[in-house]
Amino acid sequence: MDKQQVFKILETITYPDFKKNIVELKLIDSLHVKPKSLHVKINTDNENAFNFIARAIPKLFKNDFRDIEVEKKLKEIRNSFEYNSTKKTNNKAPYAKKVIVISSGKGGVGKSTVSTNFALSLAQEGYKVGLLDANVYGPSIPRIFGIENEKLQWNDKNKIIPHENFDVKVMSTGFTTPTNDNPLVWSSSVAISTLMRFLENVEWGELDFLVIDMPSKATDIQLNMTKELPLFGAILVTTPQILACDDVNRSVMMFKDLHVKILGIVENMSYFIAPDTGKRYDIFGKDGAKNICEKYNLTLLSQIPLDMSIREMSDDGEVSVALIDETIKKSYKKIVKKVLEEV
Ligand code: ADP
Repeated sequence: MDKQQVFKILETITYPDFKKNIVELKLIDSLHVKPKSLHVKINTDNENAFNFIARAIPKLFKNDFRDIEVEKKLKEIRNSFEYNSTKKTNNKAPYAKKVIVISSGKGGVGKSTVSTNFALSLAQEGYKVGLLDANVYGPSIPRIFGIENEKLQWNDKNKIIPHENFDVKVMSTGFTTPTNDNPLVWSSSVAISTLMRFLENVEWGELDFLVIDMPSKATDIQLNMTKELPLFGAILVTTPQILACDDVNRSVMMFKDLHVKILGIVENMSYFIAPDTGKRYDIFGKDGAKNICEKYNLTLLSQIPLDMSIREMSDDGEVSVALIDETIKKSYKKIVKKVLEEV
């Protein structure tokens, strides 16, 4: 049996709770095929997923190889910067070295999608990452991560255990509702105190980055979170549309007033390339984010195209494109690189 044939068989192993298989998800770090032995190294930090894969492989190949070894790739742990905690007394997130908020003035521009993919890209670089979904009035991150049916769980220290997938620890108000379509009818003060609990009472462990997906428009929540945390910076998400850009202008002013560094702007749904003709369409207009960046002297972190697979994957609860699609992956790597330059 050769490598190609082994890959074909590995494609029959789907990642637990997802529709994608482990080859598509690029979890095979290395593969050594000899006449009598097979050695597979798997790139995942998810203990359950690894155990599942490690059990499945010997079953599939037991008639083809005498020795079968499935190994977990040891993650390269990065520990390159200092804690921020001393900067502010009463810091609610002393476990996080850098706290980054992702914000947009307007809903529906892809802020949660960007937050998720950005967090995944940081984790792929070897950083320890937590993602807090602060969208109290419409949390979508659990669905994007395929963990929308998870509920809150506590450990014996009475701390909430974050759910984890693809090396990102996730916490969301979505875990507090009985079903996904249950609305949270909370006043903003209740929402703020819940989010504070999520900062203080969640067993995040040591984090290099805590990424917070901020609710759009809910300025009081944003103000409170900003006051309570020593923020490393904010990333703003917009589409090129004038309406969305007007709202982002307001967010820029808000963060400037709060003395929060704006790490840059991500222009999402920037353009669309027709898959059949390859022709580019500027569906939401052009240069919106570029103009804001010029006006306020900010960095344009990336321009992410409107892409059907992005929408399909988040709707289906499929793992994010930042793991699969090479072009999109590059866009996010670019954002991570620019943000790390600031560290
Ligand atoms: P927000 O958090 O700003 O409200 P979401 O991240 O929930 O926005 O995105 C809104 C919708 O747009 C979702 O269905 C998402 O899948 C889709 N979406 C986001 N970014 C893109 C993109 N670049 N291409 C196609 N669809 C996208």
